[in-house]
Amino acid sequence: MDKDLQAANAAQGIPQPIRKSDGMGATDLGPRDVMRDIENPDMLVPPVTDNGLVPNLRFSYSDTHMTLSHGGWSREITVRELPIATTLAGVNMRLTPGGVRELHWHQQAEWAFMIYGHARISAVDQDGRNFIADLGQGDLWYFPPGIPHSIQGLEDGCEFLLVFDDGSFSDLNTLSISDWFAHTPKEVLSANFGVPVDAFADVPHKQRYIFQDELPGSLASQTVPDPNGTVPLSMTHRLLAQTPIKTPGGSVRIVDSLNFPISVRIAAALVEVEPGAMRELHWHPNNDEWQYYLTGQGRMTVFTGNGNARTFDVRAGDVGYVPFATGHYVQNTGTETLWFLEMFQSDRFADVSLNQWMALSPQQLVKDNIHATDQLMDALRKEKWPVVRYPGIPPVIEDTD
Ligand code: MN
Ligand code: MN
Repeated sequence: MDKDLQAANAAQGIPQPIRKSDGMGATDLGPRDVMRDIENPDMLVPPVTDNGLVPNLRFSYSDTHMTLSHGGWSREITVRELPIATTLAGVNMRLTPGGVRELHWHQQAEWAFMIYGHARISAVDQDGRNFIADLGQGDLWYFPPGIPHSIQGLEDGCEFLLVFDDGSFSDLNTLSISDWFAHTPKEVLSANFGVPVDAFADVPHKQRYIFQDELPGSLASQTVPDPNGTVPLSMTHRLLAQTPIKTPGGSVRIVDSLNFPISVRIAAALVEVEPGAMRELHWHPNNDEWQYYLTGQGRMTVFTGNGNARTFDVRAGDVGYVPFATGHYVQNTGTETLWFLEMFQSDRFADVSLNQWMALSPQQLVKDNIHATDQLMDALRKEKWPVVRYPGIPPVIEDTD
C-alpha cells in the first residue's frame, strides 16, 4: 500500500519526506498541504547538516492580513507575525494613482524601498523646513522618528516596502492628522487656528489611513516656498542607481549613514544573486538582519552555534530574519535572478566573511583547525566577495524526488 502510494505520488510530482542521500524518512499519508510542501523542499527534507532548535526565521506576506482601502492596501510583518523579529518591522504598501497614505507621524524611523511605480513624499522637520520629492523604482526614502510625512501615488501608482526600527511597530497604530482632528474639540481647533468652529464642520470622524485623491499636479506645482530654508540632509537616495560591488555571481549595493547620511537608524544592502550563485557564508557583527525577497527563489541556512542549523526556503514576497552574529548564507535555487534586501537597525552596514577571516588568520592555525587541504588554503581570498559562483563548481542539487 505504502509503495503504491509512493509510486502514485511520485508520478504526480508530489514530494515525500524521504531523504535520498541516506534513505531517512517515510511517506506522508496526510493530511497535508502539498502546495506548501512543494514550495518548501528543504523543510520537508532538511539537509543532513540541519539540526537542533532554531526558531522560525521566515514569514510570507501571503500569510498576512491585508488592510484594504480605497486608494490602496497595506500588510505588515511585525513581532506579532514573526516573534523573533524584534529589531525591525516591515510594511508592504500599494497606492493607486492619486492614492494617499495620509499625513501622519510616529515614534519610529521610517526607511522605504520603492518596488514599482512612482510616488511623491512630503515632510516638514522640527525647524519648519519642508522636503517634497518624487521617487521611482529602486529609490529610498527615510523619515527620522517623529517627523511628519505623507506619501501619494503618481500616474502609475506604486508599491513599496516600509521598514521601521522597532519590531513591535504597526502602521495601523500611528499618529494621524485626521485622527487628531477627530479627537480634538472643535472649540479647541477654533482657538488653535483662529477660525470659527464651523470651519471644522467637515473634518473626518476617524483616521483615514489610506484614501483615494485626485492625481497631484507636477512637483513644481506642489512646491511650497519655505522661508525657513531647506532640510540639511536629503530624505531620498537612489539606491538602484548606485554603483554596485560586482563579483562573479551577483552584486551588492550598500546604503547606510555613510552615503545616505540622514539614515542613522537603518542600514541596508540590496543583493543580486544570479542562478547557481550564493550570498557567501558570513555574519553581521552589529545587529539582527531583516530580509525582504524581491524576486526569484532561494534557500537560507542559519547556523546558531552549539550544533544548531536550519534551512528555510525563500521566495519573492517573503521576509527572512537572521539573529545577531549567527552564521548564514543564501543560495539562488531558481532559474531567475534572486534579488533581496538585507536591513539592520544600525547606522552602518557591517558583515564578516568566513572566507576573508580564514585568509587573514595565521595559515597553519586555520589549516590545523579544520584539517584544511592545501587546495582549500590556496583558494582563500583576502578580498571580500559578498556573492560567489565558481566555474566548474555545480550549484547544490535538491535532495528530494
Ligand atoms: Mn510613516
Ligand atoms: Mn547577511
